[in-house]
Order: sequence, then structure tokens, then C-alpha cells
Amino acid sequence: MAEHQPRPDWAAMTDEAVGLLADYLRLDTINPPGNEYLACEWLARILDTEGIPYQTYARDPARPSLVATLRGDGSAGRALVLLNHTDVVPAEADHWSRPPLSGVVEDDYVWGRGAMDMKGMGILELMVLIAHRRLGLPLRRDLTFMAVADEEAGGAYGIDFLDREHPEVIDCDFVLNEGGTGAAEVFGVRRPVFHVCVAEKGPLWLRLVTKGTPGHGSVPHDDNALERLVRAIIRIKGWDRPPMPSPEVFAYFEALHAAGILPGPPSAQTMRTMGRDHPRVQSMLTNSIAVTTINAGVRPNVIPAQAEATLDVRLVAGYDPERFLAELRGVIDDPRVEVQTIFSSSTPASSTNTELYRAIERAVAATCKGAVIAPSISTGFTDSRVFRRRGIPTYGFIPILLEPDDSGRTHGNDERISIENVNLGLQLLFQTVREVCG
Ligand SMILES: [Zn+2]
Repeated sequence: MAEHQPRPDWAAMTDEAVGLLADYLRLDTINPPGNEYLACEWLARILDTEGIPYQTYARDPARPSLVATLRGDGSAGRALVLLNHTDVVPAEADHWSRPPLSGVVEDDYVWGRGAMDMKGMGILELMVLIAHRRLGLPLRRDLTFMAVADEEAGGAYGIDFLDREHPEVIDCDFVLNEGGTGAAEVFGVRRPVFHVCVAEKGPLWLRLVTKGTPGHGSVPHDDNALERLVRAIIRIKGWDRPPMPSPEVFAYFEALHAAGILPGPPSAQTMRTMGRDHPRVQSMLTNSIAVTTINAGVRPNVIPAQAEATLDVRLVAGYDPERFLAELRGVIDDPRVEVQTIFSSSTPASSTNTELYRAIERAVAATCKGAVIAPSISTGFTDSRVFRRRGIPTYGFIPILLEPDDSGRTHGNDERISIENVNLGLQLLFQTVREVCG
């Protein structure tokens, strides 16, 4: 990219982004019900002012998604999509020090539900788009800002709707989304590490159902539906599953080792040990199973006829759900325990051998001296799955540096983003986009 091109005034851009984010956080797009039209109308007003064309797509008029594109000359290929979602999860206001929809700017932070997940990133993306328009920067590919509804509740009204009804919108070369972010400290070592999420574990939500013979609690018998279910759960929890470090997990630990953060090179043994100490690492290494609900019975003295439980299973990236189900049935070892699939999504990893990944590396090297870049695995899942399923390289990269104290706030209480991080995020995202589109 040419060095003589105009650059944004970062301080002014940060001020503007903080003001916009504060307003954006005040819009109640808590999902359910979402009401993402509030976000779309607000974004549309800003884009109108800037003269940037956009389109909205809605399965439900109250829940549109918005796509804005700055056209490039196409010489570098198809679009880079800056993906974000406009809905947020509910908040327990009683546990917050500031009201969750206040968007208050205090103590060098912007506070509110969605500051991290992911209205903050949405504003970084919006500002980078606007900066391109205002500065008239040349683009060798389209730059697309995609603000979708309903990510937090599965995407039926957002990305899945676009995928099914408007696949032309999904068609692109690269996607940047949430899923990975930077940390000022990793495994107790203070050193900036930017996680670029290249893969997500595959959710496989299951329901176990047992049926038995109802009866009086004073006369126990062997065909108690609830006891059958409990036996199944005990067997599942006792299932010893060996760690299965995927190549992506190996690459993550290798990057940390190369940076001097982990003393030894990754081996099956060291990873097992780390898994024992860190639940998140353990989840990265295994097909994880959490029992999340159980339902049975009506009275203390009535043997129930039916019992149900749900399992939140997260498969390591690329693991075949059918294979897992066969293994699970073997462990339960009881044909009268019915295993139903509620939701399943398995997506391949994105390769790190791409122009976009190298662009991120260069942008980080230029902006944040001494920082480490590590490809990472997310234990959760995002809208990235729709793009990865189509083979489009998609990275989770919110380009900011979180302190250890910041990490529990996403989906938790007192969610916030520091003004310093807004500044850093703008520079890193702008630089990354210039590397790929300029
Ligand atoms: Zn999110």
C-alpha cells in the first residue's frame, strides 16, 4: 500500500468513535426480543450523512440486518467483509455499577452491554469504513460493513437468513468478525498477545429422554424413568476422553512457546497438564460435555413416567457429530435412553496461510511493537460458521488488548471498553484493511 495516502487523525477519530459507541449502547437491542431495527435505523442515518450506500435485509421487519459497501476496483479480488452483530445479551442491572444501557463514559471507559460483544467492534468497523469514504482512499476490492441481527440467539433472523435468502451478500474473499481478541497478559506472563481465532468448536446440543413405568413412590421398581436418566448422566460424566489437540491448538501453543510465554514446546503431556489447570484449555482439547438442564417428576411421592436432560456438547473443530453420537450411545449403553439432537453445527477451521492473516501480522507489527500473534480456537461459536462452511477464510479478531480484569465482563456484569482500546482498535483495524484492500 502506498505510504503517501492520507491517514486519519487518530485522536479525533477516537473521540468520534467513543461518542458514537455511547449512543449505540443506549439502543435497547437486547435479544430476546432484539428489536435490531433500532440499530439499523441509527446506522442508516450515519451512513446517509456520510454518503455511503447500504441495503437492509429482514425476515422480520423488526429485525433487519444492514449491509453497506464501498466499491473497490476489484483488482485484488472480492470483498473484505467487516462483520458485526447489532443484538446484545440481557443484563442483570442489579449487579452493574452503571445501568447496562447507559453508554456512560467514565474513568476512561465506555460502559454498557455490548461494549465488547460486540457493538464496540461494530463501531470500529463503521469508523474504518467512514474513514475510507472521507479520505477517498483507493480500494482494490469492495469493503463491506455487515451489521446483522440475532447473533446471540443463533442467527435465524440474521446470518442464517442472509445465508439462505441472500447468498450474494455472503459471497466474499475474507471476513473479520468477533471470536478472538488481544490480551495484555497470557497464562500469567505480561506480554501483548493478539489471538486471531481461526476455528470454533462445534456446538452439538442434545436432549436425553427416558420413559418408564409411573407408580407410587412407596413402591419402588426398576423401570423408573428418572433413575434411568441419572444412570446415563453418571456414565457420561465418568467417560474418560483423551485430549485431542487439533493442528490449530498445537499452532496456538507453539506460537506462545516461540514467544517465550510457555517454557516448553507443546507436547501431549504439557497440554494435558495445562488442561487440568485451565478449564478453557481443557475445552479446547476435548469434546466437552456439560449437563445443562434436567426435568422430571411432579410430586415427591410419584414415580415419573418420563425424564429429560439437555447436554451442551462442544466438539473439537472438524469432529464428526455422528461419530460422537455413536460413541455417546456406547457409553450410555442403554437403548432405552433416547438421544435427540437439538442443534448441531460443525465448521472447518480457516487456514492461516492467507493474505488476510499476513495483513493482520503486518498491521500488528507496525502498530504494536513486540506483540505476539497466535492463531486460536474459540470454545464458543459465532456467525463466522456460515462463512467458514462456505470455505471463506474468516478470523475472529477484535484488535484490542484486554487486561485480565476485563475478561469476565462479556456476557457478564459491568461490560466496558477502554478509550485507549478504541484508539488502538481503530488503528489496527484500519491498518489491516489497508493491507488487504489498499
Ligand atoms: Zn458476539
